[in-house]
Amino acid sequence: MNKKEIISKFSTDPERYYSVKLFENQGFERKSCTTCKRFYWTIDENRINCPDHSDDTYSFIGNPPTKKRFDYTQAWKEVESFFVKNGHTSVNRYPVVCRWRDDLYFTIASIVDFQRVMGSKVVFEFPANPLVVPQTCLRFKDLENVGVTGRHFSSFCMIGQHSIPNSNGYWKDECVDLDYRLMTEQFGVDKKEVVFVEDVWEGGGSFGSSLEFFVKGLELGNAVFTEFQGDLSNYKTLDQQIIDMGAGLERFAWLTMGTPTAYDCCFGPITDNLLQQVGIDTNNELLVTYFTKIAKHLEQFSDLSEVRKHAIKSAGLSDDQINKIITPLEGIYLIIDHIRTLIFAISDGALPSNVGGGYNLRMMLRRIISTMNRLSLKFDMNEMVDTQIDYLKNTYPELEKTREDIRTIIEIESGRYENSKLRMEKIVSKLNQKPTVDDLIRLYESDGITPDYLKEMKVISDIPSTFYSKLSDLHQSKKQKEQERISLEKLPETELLYYEDDPKEFDAKILKSFDNYVILDKTSFYARGGGQEPDHGTIGKFDVVDVVKHGNIVVHELKNGIPEEGNIITCVVDSKRRDGITKNHTSTHILNSSTRNVLGSWVWQHSAFKEEDHARLDITHHSALTDDEIENIERLANSIVEKNMSVTIDNFDRGTAEQKYGFKIYQGGIVPVKSVRIVSIEDFDVEACGGTHVKKTGEIKLIKITRTKRIQDGVVRIEFVSGETALDYTKQHDANMIKKSAELKEKMELKEKRHEQKQELREKIPILVESITKSEIGTSIVDEIIVDMTESGKLNFCCTASEQYDEFFHISLGEKLIESDPWMVYCSIFDDEDKIRTIIYSGEQAGKNKKAGDIAKIVSEILGGAGGGNERFAQGGGKDKSKKNDAMEKVKSMVLEV
Ligand SMILES: [Zn+2]
Ligand SMILES: [Zn+2]
Repeated sequence: MNKKEIISKFSTDPERYYSVKLFENQGFERKSCTTCKRFYWTIDENRINCPDHSDDTYSFIGNPPTKKRFDYTQAWKEVESFFVKNGHTSVNRYPVVCRWRDDLYFTIASIVDFQRVMGSKVVFEFPANPLVVPQTCLRFKDLENVGVTGRHFSSFCMIGQHSIPNSNGYWKDECVDLDYRLMTEQFGVDKKEVVFVEDVWEGGGSFGSSLEFFVKGLELGNAVFTEFQGDLSNYKTLDQQIIDMGAGLERFAWLTMGTPTAYDCCFGPITDNLLQQVGIDTNNELLVTYFTKIAKHLEQFSDLSEVRKHAIKSAGLSDDQINKIITPLEGIYLIIDHIRTLIFAISDGALPSNVGGGYNLRMMLRRIISTMNRLSLKFDMNEMVDTQIDYLKNTYPELEKTREDIRTIIEIESGRYENSKLRMEKIVSKLNQKPTVDDLIRLYESDGITPDYLKEMKVISDIPSTFYSKLSDLHQSKKQKEQERISLEKLPETELLYYEDDPKEFDAKILKSFDNYVILDKTSFYARGGGQEPDHGTIGKFDVVDVVKHGNIVVHELKNGIPEEGNIITCVVDSKRRDGITKNHTSTHILNSSTRNVLGSWVWQHSAFKEEDHARLDITHHSALTDDEIENIERLANSIVEKNMSVTIDNFDRGTAEQKYGFKIYQGGIVPVKSVRIVSIEDFDVEACGGTHVKKTGEIKLIKITRTKRIQDGVVRIEFVSGETALDYTKQHDANMIKKSAELKEKMELKEKRHEQKQELREKIPILVESITKSEIGTSIVDEIIVDMTESGKLNFCCTASEQYDEFFHISLGEKLIESDPWMVYCSIFDDEDKIRTIIYSGEQAGKNKKAGDIAKIVSEILGGAGGGNERFAQGGGKDKSKKNDAMEKVKSMVLEV
């Protein structure tokens, strides 16, 4: 069953599928387009074509069909007030990061807000009926169109009008009537200009008719009636029929303003600010002509560059006009659009990265920077963020709260990109042929090089139209975990005692035992889930080694045999293990909120693991943690422990919980059940969670972070311990610290002592000089200083390699010795940390033959280094401490040989 089959079936019976009271009352006529044969409804007798094929297509550009003008903010106020005065509840937008669906990263349509997946089924949960919502939607499939076509955005506001036909809600007649009155009464469009086109919709096993509505060829919205299930030969009405009307807010604004592009009237003052900086005037007839051509012919060409070429030719633009007006204009539109998307995504907790949905965000920020570089635009990123938030907060006041965080993330991410430029330049310089689309994808995936960067570097002139859709497909699908299936048919759900009185000893009936597995009628053994490891203990005389849930049945894995089916058996849960795990679980919640408080609103739980004696929490964060940050997180977490806050558990209807607490409750992922278990640590942390928790935070005693590590782009792992383990850890840690500090103290004392000794020795220098110079012929030793003399008695030699002397000593002694004896040569070789050094003095007479510089040079060579100086004084050294004696022997022979 495809759309074509459905539409051909529905078209044969328009009375049943398409006709509504409005058409009857207002005298709408059903016609078939002379060009494409599609059916449409109009009150204009002269109209012969559908909106796509009429002469008036996009004629609102430069000539808007309404008396009043509304920009993006004002357009929403009009829409909202219209629906509210007609009995709708206006609901705040849902996050653009789609936390409640595990098959979507981002919210792509307003109806997604209310869809919840239960197994393989999608159910709808509406907080009000009927309702209207200004839902920001993110779409990355045709990024190459953004900025160029005049109507494509990477994020846009979908006006969602939703209703369930019951005593509160309505069905087709009222829906179409409302949409018609919205256009004609609220926005003042001439009734003749409104055209409804017949279409159909199908997906997720259901289908129905839809009516797209157009004004001047611009599709404003599409009212979808989700009505049937089954297939075309046999279908029945759904139990839960739904009106899913989605309209583009940007298009309503554009229609009333008639600007060359929708970008000109949907971003607020930022557009004019930037255009002024560059000096482009958009009040230009040329632009009206050019963008009307683009809009009209977009569908006729498969390649965007062809559309552009065609429009340039038709509008008669010169190369100069293209370079000075069109190209920079496209760049500016792209920059503004992409920043708006980043604002929403970061505000809702997404981070640019190279994984998952973060890919698209990184790509967009890099596009912004490349585009600015390519066009030599010098816009201030912070200023752009601020101007946009100032404008957007009229509709979305919540953006104000994350203004600083958005600026921080954009700054960090921009800095990273700048830092990788050198590397990218190198890679690009090695490209020797024009890259294919696959090359482009590889370049981005492995090196972070965007096609926009290649455009900036003039490697390519256009970005292939399939690039973004291909990349988007690559990162769209999330992996669903396959669970091993055990055949458990006909068994009842296991009663979960750990959600009730949680007894650590209980009697249960064995419903089934097979292989190593046992299934009981009830259990207090916690089954692995939500990152919490399973309980251990005993069932009868057998050890429980693993516990898992298959649907709502708990399966216990035993070691060394299994008990017999049908028996009642005593089960004991290892309460020490459970206690450790439970403390770690509550600690995970405390740490999660602590990190968000300390680091920023972008922090979300990425995953978690809780064992008896250790646990870890992986969070989304842009950089490795600093010591200060770790300390602050730990301090905040322990202050929550000290406050002994109550941990309360309540069950809520899912929709109620979402409305009450927001989507932050889904830290551990989506909850595939209608009733959610909300674990609150007073108002510090509120999460949907199925795990076991302490009653008061004080029971945890202490939380200690043992290690943190950036484990992947955008994810930081925090390893920690809590309770007794944390106390032991701290004790051990403290003991180590005491030992270390004792060692350090000893070392310091030794150093101090040696310093004092050296000080004393310096004072002895005059006495040493006297006793050395008075030495008799032959070798003598004074305080480890060797004193020797040539046979002629004319040359005296004095040397030492003693550890007890330092540089200052050698310099003082050497100076004094050669002063009192001009025939004296003094040589010292001594350790100085990891080096070995030498200091040489030669007296006035001795220096004539035995130059200090020559001696130092040779000694240093032996020590594996270099040295030198003049006749009187020289120094040098090396690293080879083992050559100390060799060096000394060499000096001796050099000086004393005749
Ligand atoms: Zn047509
Ligand atoms: Zn939890």
